[in-house]
Amino acid sequence: MEKIKVAIVGYGNLGKGAEKAINLAEDMELVGIFTRREPKTIESQSKVYSLENILDFKGEIDVCILCGGSATDLRSQGPEIARHFNTVDSFDTHAKIPEYFNDIDLAAKEGNNLSIISTGWDPGIFSMNRLLAQSILPQGETHTFWGEGVSQGHSDAIRRIDGVIDATQYTVPIEESIERIKAGEKVNFTPRDKHKRICYVVAEDGADKEEIEFKIITMPDYFVDYNTTVHFISEEELKKNHKKMVHGGRVLRIGETSQATKQVYEFKLDLDSNPEFTSSINVAFARAVYKMRQEGKIGAITVFDVPISYLSNLTAEEQRAKLL
Ligand code: NDP
Repeated sequence: MEKIKVAIVGYGNLGKGAEKAINLAEDMELVGIFTRREPKTIESQSKVYSLENILDFKGEIDVCILCGGSATDLRSQGPEIARHFNTVDSFDTHAKIPEYFNDIDLAAKEGNNLSIISTGWDPGIFSMNRLLAQSILPQGETHTFWGEGVSQGHSDAIRRIDGVIDATQYTVPIEESIERIKAGEKVNFTPRDKHKRICYVVAEDGADKEEIEFKIITMPDYFVDYNTTVHFISEEELKKNHKKMVHGGRVLRIGETSQATKQVYEFKLDLDSNPEFTSSINVAFARAVYKMRQEGKIGAITVFDVPISYLSNLTAEEQRAKLL
């Protein structure tokens, strides 16, 4: 069987997860990891190349999995690479998705390539579940809860405060609110009603802990709209107990199909490793991109545009026999 030739662009958490997921996929082979850093400095058993040389691999890569950060990397890397290769990315700045889609669509069409944007779990398979639930239950309300899990963005925001050495922030869903929604209560929740934030912080010796705590809980956009608890701990304890990238969450839709006939749709994830799971999703979508491009599709697409059977390495017959 001819294997799908996949490249990884960017070797952070998602890049490492993609390497593991490709190695588990029998129908794929890893062409290499492409990085902006000096390839020799990257610790990996796979082949590592400079991103500057990626165009030398035209014709040798079926799909590139873009693992750069959403805030800055993908805005430029996405269109640049989509112009030359089929791509998958997990761009997750929700408000900017329409704009990013247009940039990628233009670039991919210029190069006669196919690019799927914003795969992963949110956006990604949570989006698929929101659409599926809304399609089945048009009369209803959808709610998304995240956690319990580590938010890298919130942890980074704490690390930027003077006097902080390191920090981990957990986003925790408020179970009581989930139960009220599932019971059919009509709710109008604020962010504070849905999630709380728990922070583990390592402070410098002699730092003013009260001031650090005040800066955290009053931080606009990140913490001020939530009930936030701050625990100061040692660097050793943070490293031992709070460095796993656990995450998860739930999509809930509560609908009515006739008067007083309540239907609860719930999709839940509980993840030991957010990046490894996200990358496993990206690898499945790389398979779909490969198949859809072979059928002639070009431009940008999202998870909504992919027939679910294209994600699988099973034949259609096997899918019907084993999974239907
Ligand atoms: P990282 O910060 O770990 O990596 C981002 C990039 O930074 C890498 O591609 C790499 O590029 C560079 N980098 C990584 N480590 C180092 C280092 N030690 N020194 C210098 N540069 C480094 O981000 P993640 O992999 O955790 O996440 C990537 C994006 O994925 C996030 O921005 C997030 O938006 C998105 N995401 C989406 C999810 C979803 O469900 N849709 C879920 C999880 C994440 P290079 O090798 O070229 O230097």
